[in-house]
Amino acid sequence: MGSRSLDTGLLIGLLNPTIALALGAVFLMLWFYQRHRPYLAVLAASYWLSAAGFLLQHFTLPIGMAPTKLISNICFTIAACGLAGAIVTRYGRRVPFVAIGILAAGGLAAFCWFMFIQPDLTWRVLVMNFAFGGLSLVVAAELRVVRDRGPTEMILFVLSLLSGLNFFVRTLVVVIAHGPYQSYDGFYASSYWTTALLSHALLSLLIALCLFCAAALDVMKALKAEAYTDPLSGLLNRRGFEERATLLLRHCATAKLPVALVLADLDHFKALNDLHGHAAGDRVIADFAAKLRSAVGTSGVAGRIGGEEFAVLLPLSDLGAARLFAETIRMLYSAGSVDGLPRDTRVTASFGVAARTGEEEGLESLMRRADEALYKAKRNGRDSVHLSCERSETVFVLAPLKAV
Ligand code: GH3
Ligand code: MG
Ligand code: MG
Repeated sequence: MGSRSLDTGLLIGLLNPTIALALGAVFLMLWFYQRHRPYLAVLAASYWLSAAGFLLQHFTLPIGMAPTKLISNICFTIAACGLAGAIVTRYGRRVPFVAIGILAAGGLAAFCWFMFIQPDLTWRVLVMNFAFGGLSLVVAAELRVVRDRGPTEMILFVLSLLSGLNFFVRTLVVVIAHGPYQSYDGFYASSYWTTALLSHALLSLLIALCLFCAAALDVMKALKAEAYTDPLSGLLNRRGFEERATLLLRHCATAKLPVALVLADLDHFKALNDLHGHAAGDRVIADFAAKLRSAVGTSGVAGRIGGEEFAVLLPLSDLGAARLFAETIRMLYSAGSVDGLPRDTRVTASFGVAARTGEEEGLESLMRRADEALYKAKRNGRDSVHLSCERSETVFVLAPLKAV
């Protein structure tokens, strides 16, 4: 064997630890910025452990060859378990600890048997590969359930299947074609080892890329949710409301479902602020928002679109249903009290309601009509609900359904 092929062998040998170290560093960096996602730290540790495993295949420790190989395989096994657990966690599945534990312990036990009791390199190769193949298929089985949820789910599902195939089929094919292997002499130049290294390098790169995409999507989703949420009320802010409401309006138009908009504005809020302080005003806003949220449930879209102004888009609601909704909130709100305010403080709100009549009407027009109705409610003494009627383009004033 010339020095040229030795150099190539070493180069290929260093390919995996280099890739794994770099990927581990990137996952660690991601984790520093997202401490609430521990799976990223597990990924970093797994990639680094696999780097150690690969290095220990090439550089024997002073403790001797057999113990070094064992440590290397322990590194690989823990890395594979960590990777499997992290992927499953990222995709919201429960980690199948029992299956992972059995495969890992079984693989290592069999490795020890064929290392120390009945030494056989070929069998060591087979049992470790089968254990890793099993772990890949466990991940594939978990991802099978979520594979339709998005592109990274699907790609990782396919990659885990490919990885399983790689561990089982490639190993068997190469061992049957070129095996059995008697000793480590020439083993690292064998087709088994070369294909193992190259396929691992490729697969681990692809898996990591996919996980980076998933982590990036997580961050984008979190940022978007943050950009669309009003921190005081926990409702959507104006931007979030407009986007979600536009989507819902489009959906209702295609499904030919009625939809209505309710605008609410707290009454005399400036006076309340002046009298009880801004902090008390904030609590009133949060309290109103909580009542609104619990009344809307999950089907409607609720937002705080201004200081003390709120909007709710209600699917499956005509003018009558939306009016009932607004009256319910109005009564619920004016009957309650807010923590920290004197008991006799009356807090009320006024409401404007508009229902879509045609399929064409967009959010802007609905908002305008509801706002006109709200304006009339304010002019008419506040603490009331007013409706906008599309056909005559006039605003009808209804006597409020006050509780007796
Ligand atoms: P009206 O019954 O006509 O609606 O009277 P109003 O005083 O509620 O109306 P106006 O729009 O003049 O005043 C709204 C007030 O809401 C002014 C502002 O000080 C207060 N406000 C806006 N955003 C916040 C907030 O986040 N926290 C608190 N505490 N007050 C706010
Ligand atoms: Mg107001
Ligand atoms: Mg206002």
